[in-house]
Amino acid sequence: MQFDYKDFHIDASPLDEGGHYYARAKIYQRASVGGDTVEVKWSGDLGDYPSDADAIEAAQRWAIQWCDENSARPSDLTPRIRSLETVMQPCNACRELVGKPSSVPPHGDLAASGVSAIGPPIHMTKISSNWNCTVCGSWLYQNTADGTPPNEWVMGEHQLDSPEKA
Ligand SMILES: [Zn+2]
Repeated sequence: MQFDYKDFHIDASPLDEGGHYYARAKIYQRASVGGDTVEVKWSGDLGDYPSDADAIEAAQRWAIQWCDENSARPSDLTPRIRSLETVMQPCNACRELVGKPSSVPPHGDLAASGVSAIGPPIHMTKISSNWNCTVCGSWLYQNTADGTPPNEWVMGEHQLDSPEKA
C-alpha cells in the first residue's frame, strides 16, 4: 500500500507474520524535482493488528502526522521573523535619551550616522546629528536649535528626504 502525500511518498505496507499484521511505514522524499526518492523516515513497528486494513490505516495515520510535522518550509518562517523586527522595542538607554536636551551626550551604544540638514546646498542648516543604536536599532536625532523640536533628543524613522514621496 503506497501513496503520495504532500512532497512525500509513503509505503504503508504492513508486515504479515503468523496472522498478525504489524503496522509500519516508510516515508520517502524526492531528492530533486523528477529525481529519485530517498528514504527519510522509518516508523519501526507501530503495533500489531488483526487485519492488514487496520494495520495500513494505523501506518497511514502515523505517516501523515509525521509529514505534517516535517513539511515546514523555510519560507513559512519568514513572516514570523519579519513581525519580530517590527515589534522591536527601543532599549532603555534609547528610551531615556528621548526628550532630553541635546546637551546630554549620546549613550555608549549609539553609532554616529551623519547629520540632517535643510536649505539650499550653498547654505545648509544643520538640524540634527543622527545616531543609530547598535543594541536596539533605533534611530535617534540630536536636534540643533533649528531642529524640530529644537535642542532635543527625538526618536524616529530615518529622516531621508525623498521629494518623490511628497
Ligand atoms: Zn537602543
